[in-house]
Amino acid sequence: MTARVSKILIVDDTPHNIDVLSATLNDEQCELMAATSGTRALELATRGRPDLVLLDVMMPGMDGFEVCRRLKADPATADIPVVFVTARTDDVSQGFAVGGSDYISKPINADEVRARVRYQLERRNLLEQLRELNHSLEEKVRERTAELTIANRHLRQEINERRYMQDRLNYLATHDFVTRLYNRGALDAHVSELLARVQRAECDAVFLLIDIDQFRLVNETCGCIAGDELLRQFADVVAGLLERTDFFARLGGDKFGVVVEDAGPDGGPALARRVLDQLADFEFHWEERSFKMAASVAVVRIARDIVSFDQLMLIADEAAYLAKREGRGTIRVHDSSLLEGEGHRESVNWALVLVDALKRNEFRAWFQRLTPLAAAADGRPHGLHIETLIRLWDPRRQKLVLPGMFIAPAERYHLIGELDRWMIREVVRLLGSMPDAHDRIDQVAINLSAVSIREPGLAQYVAETLREFGVPGRMMCFEITETEAIVNLQSAGEFMHTLHRLGCRFALDDFGSGFASFTYMRQLPFDTIKIDGMFVRDMDTDLVHGGMVRSMTEMARLLNKPVVAEFVETETVAGLLRELGVDWAQGFHYHVPEPLTADALRASLPLRPAASSAATVIEAPVPGAESAMPPAALA
Ligand code: C2E
Ligand code: CA
Ligand code: CA
Repeated sequence: MTARVSKILIVDDTPHNIDVLSATLNDEQCELMAATSGTRALELATRGRPDLVLLDVMMPGMDGFEVCRRLKADPATADIPVVFVTARTDDVSQGFAVGGSDYISKPINADEVRARVRYQLERRNLLEQLRELNHSLEEKVRERTAELTIANRHLRQEINERRYMQDRLNYLATHDFVTRLYNRGALDAHVSELLARVQRAECDAVFLLIDIDQFRLVNETCGCIAGDELLRQFADVVAGLLERTDFFARLGGDKFGVVVEDAGPDGGPALARRVLDQLADFEFHWEERSFKMAASVAVVRIARDIVSFDQLMLIADEAAYLAKREGRGTIRVHDSSLLEGEGHRESVNWALVLVDALKRNEFRAWFQRLTPLAAAADGRPHGLHIETLIRLWDPRRQKLVLPGMFIAPAERYHLIGELDRWMIREVVRLLGSMPDAHDRIDQVAINLSAVSIREPGLAQYVAETLREFGVPGRMMCFEITETEAIVNLQSAGEFMHTLHRLGCRFALDDFGSGFASFTYMRQLPFDTIKIDGMFVRDMDTDLVHGGMVRSMTEMARLLNKPVVAEFVETETVAGLLRELGVDWAQGFHYHVPEPLTADALRASLPLRPAASSAATVIEAPVPGAESAMPPAALA
């Protein structure tokens, strides 16, 4: 703070008195002003802003008290200290009463005057400094307040952004981004909460698992953008039938789930019906194509015996699988409270059955021979060709279960890999135990699920197993059915190449049954084509099927691949196949599958070609197994 010169206003109607006081204060380094009347004093005080007024009381006109009262009344001058200069001691109290700060008695004493003036000026100065300090403090407070307000606003903005991001993350974590419906995780949370209420008997509910029939078709023919659009439109159609309280989610792929609370006993099936009816009127259009829509719906009552989301999904999957098997556009209702007890095939918990069967070694290997319909190109008799088939022994019912029952559940529960490995080991082990027969066994086919070949390490497993039991790779053929499971052509291709290097071969199974057969045929290194038995079985009576077998055979010939026809049940069909130039036949007409044992295999082996001229002997093709030799003769 810069030291400044103080200003003192001396008021007295007697100029001499002014002079005396001025002289007294001469050394004080002040600026002095003087007024000889009250009016003039007020004027100077307002204009000159003195730091102190030395004020005579007795003046003509406006006396000192009145001047003081007016100075104190004006905010501009109110804080200027006033010191009365008076000869009368009884003026003192009145002087303080009108706002005076001090008084000096006349006649004046120079030291007293200086002391009182200094004191007043110093006090005034300190007050001034304090005021300035206060002022700058207030200024700072104001500035900081402004800053804080801005910071606060930023903070609030950040908090809002954070909250938005949080909400967005939450949304993304709980929603399917194609259809904007809830996703599986959200459904899990919803069902888990619901199950608790169902357990407490606070509500009942029903779960619908809806599976679109044409999703794959659209996806593969029009691409996945069309597939996504189909999912969206489908979601819209179903959403239009739901109440706001229903919980609608996409479970992934072409599967959707709806939870309806307090629907009553018929609510679930009725809603399922409405969904299918609505879909019947709906067509999906993409570019110039249009697709009729259908779905299968599994309806599961969420009763108290369902204790977890996973359990609900297993039951719903099972019911959906059964619905799909019954054909398009079907509804399957599962009500666990209705089906208790024995013999309910539909309620079999396949996951458990399969896991137990693997543990207890209850799978069995069977086989069926393939029969050549023409002589080999070099005229030599063919060695034995068989296809191995898996079965499951059901100890409770003392019956064998056919793979049609359990392959699909095994795929769904990711147990198929173990099943296929079991089969590989079982078959290769048996072949390894009969090395003397190897030169008369051309090909042993093992069915592999496309799901299994997707699992890493299967090729390695085959290679190691062959090595372990000393079985040459060229004896093995793997049959793979064209299914949606071959989604990754590249990994399927790698699998096939690895085993090709060991001499193994591959057959494309059930050719013609899937619409992508031709793609797979061209893009994967298959060696053989097996025409789906459903075309073959009645090709003599069904013209369309006959035509299919013909065109598939012609195509295979163009690609230079041998053709196998399955489900050959009659000689008539066998004759037609021979005419078409089909290379191999397989079916009940030639051989009804039987357990795969060393004895059974030996009984199926063709006659050993003459040892001396194995490469040149020409024999008629061996029809079926009738030419088997007793095992002893083979050694
Ligand atoms: P697939 O590969 O088409 O097998 C041929 C099926 O046709 C066998 O049924 C066989 O018993 C049956 N069959 C044979 N001849 C005739 C006939 O003349 N008429 C009729 N109607 N059927 C005949 P199976 O053994 O029930 O097998 C069904 C399917 O299960 C097989 O179809 C195959 O895809 C699959 N499978 C069988 N064994 C295995 C295995 O070890 N692993 C895998 N992943 N799948 C297997
Ligand atoms: Ca097969
Ligand atoms: Ca087949």
